[in-house]
Order: sequence, then C-alpha cells, then structure tokens
Amino acid sequence: MSRIIRVVQISALLLVASLPARADLKVATSLSDLASVAQWVGGKHVVTQSLCRGYEDPHFVPAKPSLMKAIQHADVFVSVGLELDGGWLPLVLPGSRNPKIQAGASGFVDASEGVNVLEKPIGTVSRAEGDIHPLGNPHYYADPKQLEIVADHLAQVFSRLDPTNAADYAANARAFDAKMETELAKWQKQLAPYQGAAVVTYHKNFVYFADRFGLKLFGNVEPKPGIPPTPRHLSELAESMKQSGVKVVLYQPYYSADASRELASKAGGVAVEIATEAGGLPGTDDVFAKFDTLVSSVAGALAGKSGGAK
Ligand SMILES: [Zn+2]
Repeated sequence: MSRIIRVVQISALLLVASLPARADLKVATSLSDLASVAQWVGGKHVVTQSLCRGYEDPHFVPAKPSLMKAIQHADVFVSVGLELDGGWLPLVLPGSRNPKIQAGASGFVDASEGVNVLEKPIGTVSRAEGDIHPLGNPHYYADPKQLEIVADHLAQVFSRLDPTNAADYAANARAFDAKMETELAKWQKQLAPYQGAAVVTYHKNFVYFADRFGLKLFGNVEPKPGIPPTPRHLSELAESMKQSGVKVVLYQPYYSADASRELASKAGGVAVEIATEAGGLPGTDDVFAKFDTLVSSVAGALAGKSGGAK
C-alpha cells in the first residue's frame, strides 16, 4: 500500500473524529467492517469511525492515547467480541473516560452476540497458551450472512438509544439485509465453479468465508493463530501442498508477504494479497466493495489468473 493512500485514509479518520456533534448518534467501532455496517444502518443519523483501519492487524492495535481521545464523546462503541480486540480494547475503553461506552454500559455493543460462532474450543483455552482465539473463531465478518445479524443487532441498539429515529434504523437494516442477499447470490455464482477447492491462508481468519462459499482450508502460514511461521513449518506445508495440488496462498496487508510468497513459490503456486476488512486494499471502502474485491481475487486465483498476485 502506498504512503499516499495511507495518508488519505488517516486524514479521513481524523476528519471523522473531529466532526461536530450534529449526528444523533456518534458510533465508534473496533473494526472497519463494523463501522461500515453501522453507517448503513444509521444512515444520516450517525457518524461512524473505526479504531482499527482495514490494513492494520485487528488483533494487535497499539492502545495509543489518540485512540482513547477519539472515542471520548462516542455514544456507542461496537466491539467485534470473541476476544479479537481483547488484547487492546480493555486498555482503550477505560482510557477514554467515557462512561457511556464502557463494557456493560448501555452504549457498549458486543457485535458477536447472535452470531453463529465457528471453531468454539472444547475445554479451557487462554491467550496465555499462545492461542488468540480462545472463545472460538472471531473472524465472522468474512461471511456476508453474519453481517446481516450484526446489522439487525445494531438497528435494535440504535433504536433503544435514539427512539425518535427507530423506524429509519429498522428500515435501513432491512435494506442492508436485502442488498446483502442480492450481492451474496452474485458472489456465490462467481465462486460456484470452485466448490471444494482448497486454499492456504496466512491466519485462521477465512473459516467463515470458506464455510459460506464451499471452499476448503488446507492450512495456514502461521503454525498456530498469532504465532509466526518457522522455516520447517513452511517447508512441510509446501511439501503437502505440492502433493495435494494446492496452489493458492491468501494473506492480508498486515501479514508477511515474504513468508506467503516463499510458501507459494516452494509449492509452485501463487500468493495473493486480499482484504478481509473494509479499507484493507484500495477499492474496498465498505463491506460490499470488500466482498466484491475479495470474491474476485479468490475466484481469479483459483482460476489460475492471479491478477492480485504480488
Ligand atoms: Zn484471528
């Protein structure tokens, strides 16, 4: 990603952060996808901002004072939940000194409530054991259907906090769900020729996407979520990819392109940079644009046309 694009995105964030208090609800989120859904549902009644940009690793956002300041006057805070933001949000929220959005307060939303959680661990797992998904896989925003659940949830929360505009929030959520259903049918058609095809992803953040679109996950560049790859892991994975004819490695802008390319080249395949969060790559400004780009990249890579390959 070029410096210019980053500067533009950072300026956009600052612009949102400094907007006057004219909106009925000021909504902050930990993830760009949640800000995008919140904007669709809130429409003209809300301003939104995400603390983590789409090209930043949502597991490890530095808990800077500027983030705490940015949410000082927020009415609503939407967390991904399932511990995705569990390493930094517990520092940023209290740091904001904003009583409305602390965990448990009426303005705090756990967006994972109501979501169909995949990879729920059996028994007790903690981050201390090196697993950053202790409550199940938190990357549900890679499935369009799960975002419909989030939209409905946000419409309820916005209506409770701002009853005057409740009818608008409900109508916006219905419109969001309807648009998502139409787009989903289009994306499913695009990926239909690749049912059962296997891919490798850098991190375990593709299970919801694979589940929705009928792809298989062959392995991860990381040996364990949050643990960087070792040369031995990459060699072994490349060998089994070759044996099984798996040729596509997918990685986000915040993960190591070098490790992904090394693996792909050893396996005789391609490494493709993808955005699983809105704003992660140019042309992925909202959740619909994100899925458009993501589905095209994955379909292109599986077809052997690695347009997005770097
Ligand atoms: Zn993760």
